[in-house]
Amino acid sequence: MHEYSLAQALLEGLLAHLREHPAPGSIAAVHVRQGELLVLSTEALREAWRILTEGTVVAGSDLVVERVPAKVRCPGCGYLGPVRYLAEEGWHFAVPVLACPRCGGRAEVVEGRDLAIVGLSVDDATPPRPGVAA
Ligand SMILES: [Zn+2]
Repeated sequence: MHEYSLAQALLEGLLAHLREHPAPGSIAAVHVRQGELLVLSTEALREAWRILTEGTVVAGSDLVVERVPAKVRCPGCGYLGPVRYLAEEGWHFAVPVLACPRCGGRAEVVEGRDLAIVGLSVDDATPPRPGVAA
């Protein structure tokens, strides 16, 4: 399962980081950025995270996924920036187009294919108060 191996890679990187830089409290949430060109199920990723983190120092942490728009570079005209989206009336989503929005040439993806940890939310030693949403 694609999401499972991605979650495993994230977790391994995070645990290696925490061995060198221990967190000052328990990890409440792990924030990741998911490039919009990376096709995966956020739900499956979060479920894999829940299973894989069991028994580790980040057990019980929430995986918070933020989507990052794609960015392309055009070798033809030098364009660097966001992609154009193909959206038609009646569609419920927009499809990123991997062609240069300026000259129409073939563009290279420079951002939007990765999954990376961008931050951690750490709870200090205070226990959560009942009735307060995390
Ligand atoms: Zn171009």
